[in-house]
Order: sequence, then C-alpha cells, then structure tokens
Amino acid sequence: MTKCKLCDRKAVVRLEYANMSLCREHFLEYFERRVRKTLEKYRMVGRGERVMAAVSGGKDSGVMLDVLARISRDAGFTLEALYIDLGIPGYSSDCLSVVRELCERLGVPLRVLDLKEYAGFTVADLMGTVRRVCSACGVVKRYVLNRYAWEEGFDKVATGHTLDDATQNILRGIINGDLETLSRITPYSPPRGKLVGRIRPLIEMPEKDILVYALLRGVPFTTAECPNAREAKGYALRRALDLVELESPSSKKALLTNFLERIQPLLRGAQERKLRECSVCSMPSSAEVCSFCRLRSRILVRVGAVGG
Ligand code: AMP
Ligand code: ZN
Ligand code: ZN
Repeated sequence: MTKCKLCDRKAVVRLEYANMSLCREHFLEYFERRVRKTLEKYRMVGRGERVMAAVSGGKDSGVMLDVLARISRDAGFTLEALYIDLGIPGYSSDCLSVVRELCERLGVPLRVLDLKEYAGFTVADLMGTVRRVCSACGVVKRYVLNRYAWEEGFDKVATGHTLDDATQNILRGIINGDLETLSRITPYSPPRGKLVGRIRPLIEMPEKDILVYALLRGVPFTTAECPNAREAKGYALRRALDLVELESPSSKKALLTNFLERIQPLLRGAQERKLRECSVCSMPSSAEVCSFCRLRSRILVRVGAVGG
C-alpha cells in the first residue's frame, strides 16, 4: 500500500507532476488550496463582488462551482450559478437536472436561462444554418454569458476552463499562427466597458485532478457528450499533450506558465482589438454588427423561411 505523503492513511491518488501520493483528505485540501492560489495570484475576485459561475453539467464547471462555494465563504464574495438551456434535444434537459442537484447540494442559487426565450432560437436551430455548430454554439454561449452578467450587474463571470483546454488552445493557436486566439488565452480578463470580467479559476488544474476531485467529493456531473461534439477538433492535440506529459510530468503547467509569462507579452498589439458598439444590440463588437447578431439574423431568416 502506498501511503499518503502527509499522513499515515492510504494514498488514493498519485500526482506524477508533483511527485507525491495523497490520501482523500489531503488531496481535496491540496486541490482547493491550489485553486485558491490561482484566484489570488491573478487577483480574480475582490471582496464584496458578485460572481456568476457558468455551469454546464460537466465535471469541470461542476468542480469549479464546488470549490468556489467553499472559497467564497471566507474570501467574501457572493456566488450564483447560471445554466444556459441551449435546447439541444436529448442533452440539455439531462444537464439541467445535474446542475439543479449540484446547486441544491451546495446551497448556491441557480438561474436558468432559456436560449429560446432569451434570443429566439435554440442550438438545434443552428444545425442546418451553419456548418460548424460547435464554434457557433461557442459564440452564442460567450455572448449570452457576458450579456446576461452585464444586465444583472455581476462583477465576474467564471468558467470551467482547465489546464488541458488552455494548453490545447496554445498549441492550436501556434499551429494556425492565430495571434488573436493566443492573446486571449488568459486566467483573467479584466472588465472593459460592457465586457464583464472573465475568470478561469481552474486554468492551472489538470483535468485528471478535476475528475479525481469530482469523484472523491461526490460532485454530480454528466458524462454524456454533447451530440454535436463529434465534429470538435482538438482530440489529437489533447492526446499529443498527454503523451508529452506522460514522458515529462508537469510539461503542461510549464507550457502554460512560460506562455503567459514569456511569450504572450510579446504579442501585445496583436491583441488590441478596437471595440465598438454593435449597431443591433449595442454590446461590444469588433465589427459594425457583432458575430452573435449576425448569426442570430441568419438563423431567424432560415427558421422563418422553413416555418412559413
Ligand atoms: P465549453 O465551451 O463547452 O468547453 O465550455 C466552457 C465553459 O463554458 C464551461 O466550463 C462552463 O463554465 C461554460 N458553459 C458551457 N456550457 C454551458 C451552459 N450550457 N450553461 C452555462 N455555462 C456553460
Ligand atoms: Zn493524508
Ligand atoms: Zn449584437
């Protein structure tokens, strides 16, 4: 039996990158402390602020909510959860029940936003309008999260992006030479006009650890994949990074840290997109009409045409 590095109990998890094995209690403590450190290092949340946690029903945002709920008590911020019902048949309603259970258990107030009511269409309507449903759905989620948080006066929006998401995006951005994507990979985007501050509290946490935390803490989550996810690219990048990590533990963390500290600062300038107001919805946009409003009008034209 492998013993916990910190006590006499049996170790339940091996953290290769930290070269240690921990028991349940010490792992949970360690995980929570690391998230707390990420929050502090990047000064993500101030006392008295209102944080809106975007929860999807998946393990990452579920664990984020669980840890934020614990931290919020002594860090002095208030926490609410938002679930966007995207109207994906056979998927969205299952996710919602998981999110309800999670929020009830944690005592965190939950708001449910119905995309159909809010914007007049669902993600099901996206199919048939756009070819890349996942990236269009991403546009919709980002827009709605920000706009809702802005309208409701939240100070920060928290999302469950992980170390694996971030490193995968870094690699993809380099492969595509996409400086704009590269400059947007960040633990914390401060508020800017009608853009509410965005925090990613799990950006330094590997998904493996997040899964272990979810299982040990009993955080309810769905393992169902979004039916549209099949088209999502990035599995190869993820596998490549997993191989690198296997051969030389803590590479992912080094990639993120070195990228943020040494490479990204050289990209300043590529980043400074001038933002103006969308002429349709008046939210921030880099073009005359924002990408959400352009997408929305295409969908409504098509759905209207189909219906009539
Ligand atoms: P994804 O774009 O699916 O990789 O999700 C990234 C993050 O967006 C998640 O970790 C959540 O914080 C948030 N998110 C995704 N889907 C939803 C949803 N339906 N409602 C609220 N937040 C979501
Ligand atoms: Zn221990
Ligand atoms: Zn707009």
